[in-house]
Amino acid sequence: MGRLLTSEELQKRNIVSFVSVCSRCGLGYDSFEHIFMACSVAALVWVGLQGYAKRCFR
Ligand SMILES: [Zn+2]
Repeated sequence: MGRLLTSEELQKRNIVSFVSVCSRCGLGYDSFEHIFMACSVAALVWVGLQGYAKRCFR
């Protein structure tokens, strides 16, 4: 964690002054937790990657 430059990480590093809303779904703050746990758009990517991995490693 901390290496993914979310809006939350940029704010912690004083690069931006506030944490913005997720640019993918617009339903939560742009944070590590949101991307990996709650973002519905990112979840589609994870599901797609899971399907791709299953096809590759049969
Ligand atoms: Zn989101």
